[in-house]
Amino acid sequence: MPRMNPGTRTDTTASSPKIGFVSLGCPKALTDSELILTQLRAEGYDTSKTYAGADLVIVNTCGFIDDAVKESLDTIGEALAANGKVIVTGCLGARAAEGGGNLVREMHPSVLAVTGPHATQEVMDAVHLHVPKPHDPFIDLVPAPATDIGVKLTPRHYAYLKISEGCNHRCTFCIIPSMRGGLVSRPIGDVLGEAQRLFESGVKELLVISQDTSAYGVDVKYRTGFFDGKPVKTRMFDLCAKLGELAAAHGAWVRLHYVYPYPHVDEVLPLMAEGLVLPYLDVPLQHSHPDVLKRMKRPASGERNLERIQRWREACPEIVIRSTFIAGFPGETEDEFEHLLDFMRAAEIDRAGCFAYSPVNGAVANELPGALPTAVREERRARFMEVAEALSTAKLARRVGATMQVLIDSAPALGRRGGAGRSYADAPEIDGVVQLLPPDKASKVLKVGEFTRARIVGTQGHDLVAQPI
Ligand code: SF4
Repeated sequence: MPRMNPGTRTDTTASSPKIGFVSLGCPKALTDSELILTQLRAEGYDTSKTYAGADLVIVNTCGFIDDAVKESLDTIGEALAANGKVIVTGCLGARAAEGGGNLVREMHPSVLAVTGPHATQEVMDAVHLHVPKPHDPFIDLVPAPATDIGVKLTPRHYAYLKISEGCNHRCTFCIIPSMRGGLVSRPIGDVLGEAQRLFESGVKELLVISQDTSAYGVDVKYRTGFFDGKPVKTRMFDLCAKLGELAAAHGAWVRLHYVYPYPHVDEVLPLMAEGLVLPYLDVPLQHSHPDVLKRMKRPASGERNLERIQRWREACPEIVIRSTFIAGFPGETEDEFEHLLDFMRAAEIDRAGCFAYSPVNGAVANELPGALPTAVREERRARFMEVAEALSTAKLARRVGATMQVLIDSAPALGRRGGAGRSYADAPEIDGVVQLLPPDKASKVLKVGEFTRARIVGTQGHDLVAQPI
């Protein structure tokens, strides 16, 4: 069964209706899954780890690239075959088929309901219709405690904090705005309240996510909200400063994802230099050449990205920059591609991923002239990755001999057999890890969710090898 998530409820009775849940896709989809699972739990539903044991299955889908669409459609088919009662939610649920109808309904007409992303209430309405809500006088009458952080699908020591939904940009290769709609920023008081509860519950690393973190608050004109009785603006800098304060009080990390290189992002660098926010920026640049960026209609495409990154490095020399790129975008010339490789070397991007351009059904870029043969796109991707890997290897090698703070992700037998963790330079799932050797001292133990200092003794591929001290 693909990634069937068990949820965490333990206090329902044996007769509670059981819901199976499959969560596919990115961290933003994961937070939608957490909201639905939290609501199911609050209403007294139980979760099932198997299709067969469930009264109904919810599949949260991804529709971003063709492989993700296929995985989602296959999973829906599998759930239908094994269980028969399936509700579909998520990005793919909002996708139209070529003829204009709903893609999921056309491929799987027997699904019970289909919703788009961030549709907790619609999903719950569909659940109520097909598997009536269990009546539990205690659950129905007692409100959730203020400290309840809901169901989390990440390990206990890190959590994603979604600050907004949707996106106001119209990148030509992307269909997210048509699936998730325009930017809607969450009220700053709600976001900070959630962060505080997460830190209080033991979260040691908060990963800020959205489609465009730098655009936070644009839709509400940076409205002033309230947190802890004090005014705070709905604005990226104010959010980061406050999150940094909360994190410092709990000895935790804040990591920023999906930040575009707008001038106002410079304001956040001092927070990194002061240690309030991790000196790590996930900046999905996609390309460097101004003409390609224009064809892509990328946010901040008019900015001088190389100069900006160099200034960031001056303001905070330890900053790590992660980015993603597309090779072989329609019309990309060999010169434009070379420009990208030169940019990579000059900007010394620490962590880079690269996709060979692949047309996404419904994206405007499909109509652009100059589509490149698959072999050229793949060959450019491979050349890009060679440069990226050489940069990453050189950067990792420079860390040998240094001492770093490592957040422990796994530590079998309290670290007696070593373990694995991450430094500020490694986001979970997408970057490398720090492989921890067994501690020298018998008295030193490693525990998941705690920090240890570690001396870097070597490298292995994208990972560092370190001795806990
Ligand atoms: S910024 Fe561009 S790529 Fe990202 S979600 Fe918005 S439209 Fe899509």
